[in-house]
Amino acid sequence: MISKAKMKSSASMLFRLLVVLQCVTVFCLARDDDFDFFYLVQQWPASYCDTKRSCCYPTTGKPAEDFSIHGLWPNRNDGSWPSNCDDDASFDESEVSDLINRMQKDWPSLACPSSDGVRFWTHEWEKHGTCSLLNERQYFQTALDLKAKSNLLQVLKDAGITPGKFYTVERIKDAIKEGVGYTPFVECNVDQSRNSQLYQVYLCVDSSASDFIECPVFPHGRCGSRIEFPSFSSSTSENESRDVL
Ligand code: 5GP
Ligand code: 5GP
Repeated sequence: MISKAKMKSSASMLFRLLVVLQCVTVFCLARDDDFDFFYLVQQWPASYCDTKRSCCYPTTGKPAEDFSIHGLWPNRNDGSWPSNCDDDASFDESEVSDLINRMQKDWPSLACPSSDGVRFWTHEWEKHGTCSLLNERQYFQTALDLKAKSNLLQVLKDAGITPGKFYTVERIKDAIKEGVGYTPFVECNVDQSRNSQLYQVYLCVDSSASDFIECPVFPHGRCGSRIEFPSFSSSTSENESRDVL
């Protein structure tokens, strides 16, 4: 016959085992590729180009003076984010062949050496896109459509904000809030004369990538109170500095 004491100790062992199993489920098996929303990050090409690092125009030519896409980044409400969620995924140009013209125009790469964009798109797809729960085509199409929907340059123009001048960050943020409907995060960098300037605009998008939302959390970083919105035509790329030499 099993004693009462033995039964008690078996029950307590079973209880402990259940607790351990539950912990394993919550902490070990929890997916590390989950996310709560996206940042749509758009860069201002003139500000990418007029830093010390400079830039190289795409092989397709100097981009128009407009915001361009940096990426569509899955993010969590606690500020962390998943990345490189599928080691086997690689960028397949044939899946976006009908979007290539739009990608060259709205998602050009300004890094050196000059490129046709494929390397930048591959990086963004592998690092962020593979965590988005969208397939490659949906990922690029969604980012392009959201960029068009935000219409940032026009929104700023409508508020009297045009390239080539200085503005307060508050005025830029208020104009975007008014025109797009949601508060952006504005990231700055510094040009070669150490002016703080508008570099990137972050807008938040719901987790199904269908519309903008108020940001659950903003990235860190602050701009000076008065920042430059530089004109693209006045900045120089490495291509051009080579031409001058
Ligand atoms: P940086 O250090 O230049 O701010 O960021 C380097 C890279 O880290 C970005 O291009 C992006 O891939 C990633 N990253 C930086 N901040 C964030 C963020 O707040 N959310 C996400 N999802 N990725 C970020
Ligand atoms: P992140 O990890 O910061 O999202 O991606 C930035 C990477 O893409 C860097 O390795 C950067 O050199 C490359 N890259 C290529 N073209 C561009 C561009 O036009 N803008 C930015 N921000 N990064 C670019």
